[in-house]
Amino acid sequence: MNCNDVQQYLAVHAELSWVQEREVQDHLCECVVCNAHWHAISRTRQALRSLPTPAAQPNDHALSAIRLALRQRFGPSRRRLGMVGGVFASLTFIGVLLLMLWFVQPE
Ligand SMILES: [Zn+2]
Repeated sequence: MNCNDVQQYLAVHAELSWVQEREVQDHLCECVVCNAHWHAISRTRQALRSLPTPAAQPNDHALSAIRLALRQRFGPSRRRLGMVGGVFASLTFIGVLLLMLWFVQPE
């Protein structure tokens, strides 16, 4: 793994696999340039985390507009898809019960 690879990995550090993380750490122990780059990224992340959270909340009209736009772009919500799946599973279960009753006739 070279410096260019490591510096690209540092940008997506949270997404790395355990093996990639290990390779990056090994390189950081050996390379002063990448180690300095890593410390600069860490300081920047820490400074961003220390910023206060905005107190303002979006109003209901804005939230409704965002939900509508997301629904139009990505389709029905997962909750609705889950409900459709539940109804489908229930109907399938009832169908299986009816088939069992049909084939298992008391003599
Ligand atoms: Zn390096």
